[in-house]
Amino acid sequence: MTLPPARIKQNGQNKTGRNMQILLVGAGLSGAVIGRKLAEAGHSCRIIDARPHIGGNCHTERDADTGVMMHVYGPHIFHTDDEGVWNYVNEFTEFMPFQNRVKTTSQGAVYSLPVNLLTINQFFDKTMRPDEARDFIAAQADTTITDPQTFEEQALRFVGRDLYEAFFKGYTEKQWGCSPTELPASILKRLPVRFNYDDNYFFHKFQGMPREGYTPMIAAILDHPNITVDLDTAYTPDMAEGVDHVFWSGALDGYFGFDLGRLGYRTLDFERFTHDGDYQGCAVMNYGDRDVPYTRITEHKHFSPWESHQGSVCYREFSRECGPDDIPYYPIRLVEEKALLDDYIARAEATPGVTFVGRLGTYRYLDMDVTIREALDTAALFLDCAAKGKPAPAFAVSPR
Ligand SMILES: Cc1cc2nc3c(=O)[nH]c(=O)nc-3n(C[C@H](O)[C@H](O)[C@H](O)COP(=O)(O)OP(=O)(O)OC[C@H]3O[C@@H](n4cnc5c(N)ncnc54)[C@H](O)[C@@H]3O)c2cc1C
Repeated sequence: MTLPPARIKQNGQNKTGRNMQILLVGAGLSGAVIGRKLAEAGHSCRIIDARPHIGGNCHTERDADTGVMMHVYGPHIFHTDDEGVWNYVNEFTEFMPFQNRVKTTSQGAVYSLPVNLLTINQFFDKTMRPDEARDFIAAQADTTITDPQTFEEQALRFVGRDLYEAFFKGYTEKQWGCSPTELPASILKRLPVRFNYDDNYFFHKFQGMPREGYTPMIAAILDHPNITVDLDTAYTPDMAEGVDHVFWSGALDGYFGFDLGRLGYRTLDFERFTHDGDYQGCAVMNYGDRDVPYTRITEHKHFSPWESHQGSVCYREFSRECGPDDIPYYPIRLVEEKALLDDYIARAEATPGVTFVGRLGTYRYLDMDVTIREALDTAALFLDCAAKGKPAPAFAVSPR
């Protein structure tokens, strides 16, 4: 399937005086943003995607029965401090104000997340002010741990056992499929607690949601006469024949046919269900208890609070190890994966004519704003290399 409307190649010229033929694998944010920049510089960009839609994991579509805007691969909230990126996305779509306010069900009660003064006061049945709560939590912390090595030790040192078990332990076990004693302390870098009533999940200056979802925004980015998009089209090596350069936003190990082994990922299963009315009263309800098998329920109409729908569509979200036929979501990046990653990086660096980009191409968790920033910078670097007659690097951003 080719994305309408049909596009006519203009064969523009760049500063080097030569129109380059570029193949971009993946029509997610990485492929779209890089393709757009190169198209604007006069190069012909063919973007392919194995899926039947553009947008990659940010893809949104309306549910046919209820009209609810669905975040098909899990909810996506746009948040950034990067004004350039914020201005960029606003060129292509209208953003509506949206702040994520997450709740959690734990040990038979509902609390506010991230753990804040309301959570602490409710959980310990107190009426503390910020300074009192700070002293109280400091007294809960396990000070016998002087050099925390694991996630568990770090959490115990920061918040003590009660808050750790209610809000961190079970959720983390479900999310990562292992004990927090096996995860590095670095996952929990800062004290994960706020001593005020701020329940806005993100700190960023710019936060919002595209009024009509992410897919029309990405369609607008792709809407350039020098870009053609072929959907339902998985990459085959013959596609790279005769092109000047390939940008690869698929899996790094996938480019090499996984021949050194597979980089580990977590995948998600979404159990969809519908409800008449308002199912849970908020967009995201986490489940911290280990005996609840899912990590959270997301109710998608609450991600578009400016809309009104009687029906509702929810996802129960289950996290598990990613198999060969699953969609890779979260890179694991523990010691074993990092060693294999080094081997693939070496392979990639010895492969001329290909730049690996995006969350899969660089095997990193990237928020959308970071993805866009890196894509803009990657395109600029590529154009600079082309102008100087230098080969573009395998990675514009180190995956290490
Ligand atoms: C569950 C989840 C929730 C998230 N929530 C947020 C959020 O709230 N806010 C936020 O800022 N970010 C969020 N993100 C991050 C966001 O999804 C990424 O920043 C973004 O998707 C990265 O875009 P990309 O183009 O690099 O990768 P992708 O979106 O994965 O696009 C890559 C594309 O390449 C295609 N492809 C792969 N291999 C091939 C092949 N061999 N041939 C052809 N096509 C191929 C794939 O089909 C895919 O469409 C979330 C991520 C996850 C996993």
